Amino acid sequence: MKKNKIIIANWKMYLSTSEAIKFITQNYDKLTNWAEKNLELIICPSPTDLYQIKKIIEGSEIFIGSQITSNHHSGSFTGQISPKSLKYIGCSHCIVGHSEHLKYLGEKERNIIPKIELLLELDIVPIICFGEEEKTIEPIKEIEKYMQPILKLLQKKAKFITQKQIIFAYEPRWAIGSGEAAKNKHIEIITSWLKTKIQNMSNSWKIIYGGSVSIKTIESLLKIDNIDGFLIGKASSSFQEFKKLVDLILK
Ligand code: PEP
Repeated sequence: MKKNKIIIANWKMYLSTSEAIKFITQNYDKLTNWAEKNLELIICPSPTDLYQIKKIIEGSEIFIGSQITSNHHSGSFTGQISPKSLKYIGCSHCIVGHSEHLKYLGEKERNIIPKIELLLELDIVPIICFGEEEKTIEPIKEIEKYMQPILKLLQKKAKFITQKQIIFAYEPRWAIGSGEAAKNKHIEIITSWLKTKIQNMSNSWKIIYGGSVSIKTIESLLKIDNIDGFLIGKASSSFQEFKKLVDLILK
């Protein structure tokens, strides 16, 4: 069945292990129902909870994604998580280039490229985040600079990866956690720009929006018709809020 929209629940570090397990077990029927019928639902818990959550959802159509990966498969990299371990656990997706990694973990833009390469090699779907740092009327220049090496890599590999899935998440950095989502026109300009850049490589890659998606902002965001779904942070970490939001998306 063709699923309606991609919904990525990025739980960040909002939930403890027991809260994360409770979220899934107590709401299992509802979540699996959405995943079977309407949504491509990808849940991204804390890295420490991936294994247990995957065990609980095993056999369902809910996908599990990692919030983090290393840019190496193995080696002397204390505290890092190998993409091979993510594959072994059963992660189907992984977020890369998230603004909170750039801001708080000193993630270097140049590290994003090998991460994407390793994930694609393992058939883990990269969720590639990108977006301007500050509010500006001319964001394309900044976005183009960030995206250029990524697009170059994808172009180089296009022949081999055209059938693989890639999700691009347009997330203006100023909108994340601010309570204010970008305006529809603004999102449409950026996503159309990206579409023209990737259309010669694959027509199965998806573009979604993230940045303060909530019950307050969703009604307007749903009017945008050239996006394939949403990356939801805070509002996905409480089931009551998440359910209200998904109900509005499915209305
Ligand atoms: C995010 O984590 O990428 C995000 C969009 O967060 P929030 O929805 O809380 O703004």
